[in-house]
Amino acid sequence: MRYEHQTAKLTRKLTGMPYTQALQMARGGDTERDRPVPDALTADQRAFEARLAFALIEAFPEHLQPHGYPWGIASVRADTDGLDIHPAPAATAYLLGALVPCHDRQYGGVRGASGTRVTISDGWWILHDLQTAAKVRVAAPASADPRRGRNEASPRSRRYITAARLTREERRDLGHIERIARSKPGGWLAHRNILGSRLLRRPGLVQLLAQAHGNANIYSHASMDVVLEWCCGDTSDQISRACHNAGLTADLAGEPLPGTTINRRSDFATTVQIGQAKLYLRQNTWICIDGTP
Ligand SMILES: [Zn+2]
Repeated sequence: MRYEHQTAKLTRKLTGMPYTQALQMARGGDTERDRPVPDALTADQRAFEARLAFALIEAFPEHLQPHGYPWGIASVRADTDGLDIHPAPAATAYLLGALVPCHDRQYGGVRGASGTRVTISDGWWILHDLQTAAKVRVAAPASADPRRGRNEASPRSRRYITAARLTREERRDLGHIERIARSKPGGWLAHRNILGSRLLRRPGLVQLLAQAHGNANIYSHASMDVVLEWCCGDTSDQISRACHNAGLTADLAGEPLPGTTINRRSDFATTVQIGQAKLYLRQNTWICIDGTP
C-alpha cells in the first residue's frame, strides 16, 4: 500500500498527471515502483512516439522553449495503448508545429515528424502514424494553427503534408534512420525507440533540467542518441539517479534490455545506456547561460 503511494507520487512528478489518477494506475498494477510510467505495449507505438520525441528535440532550441518546459509539454497521460499530451501554457501552436509534418519551402525536406497525419476531434488533435495503428493525442482546440507557432516570417511559407501516402521526402527521411540501423548492432533501433518513447512519456524528467533557468539544451546526433545538457541546478549524478528512478533503464515488460547501464564518466558527464541506445547527460557549468558560474 505504501509503495502504491510512493509510485503514484513519482508518476505524478514525471508525467504531471493528477495524483488520484496516478494512484489508480498503481493500484491497478499498471505502474510499479521501478516502472512508474507504463511503456507503450507495441513496438509500432514506441517507434511512433520516438519519432515525435526526436521531432521535438529538433524543434525546441533553448531560446524558443516555453519557460520551465523544454519540450513545450505540461503533462501527459501515458498508458500501454497510447499517449495524451497536454501542451505547456501558450505552447500549443508551437508544439503542434513541431510534430505535424510540412514541406520546408525555404530549406527543402520535411519539418516535423514524417509520416504523421492529423484528425481533429472533441478538443484533441489526433496524430496518426500513416503506416501503423500507432497514435498520440494532443489536447488542442480545433482552431489551433500550428503554422502560427513557428518563428516564421510568414506562416504561408509552410505547407502541411496531408497526402494519403508517404511523400518522396518523407520516405527519404524515414529511410535515414533505417539506413543507420543497418550499420548498428542488432536491436539498436528498437532500443533507441524505447529511449525516445520513454522520454516523451516523462516530461517531468526534462523539466528537472530547466529548474535553474527555465530551459535546457536538448539535442541529438542525427536522431541516433539524445544529449541532455544544462548548467546550474541538479548535478549529473542527481539527474542520472532521477533517470534510473524514473524507470528509464527498466526492462521492457519483463524483457531484459541487455547492455543497460549508467556510466559516470566525470563529475559533469554521465552516459545512460538503454540496451544499445545512449542518452548523454552533460552539465556544462562553464557555459552558464546566466553568466554566473
Ligand atoms: Zn546556469
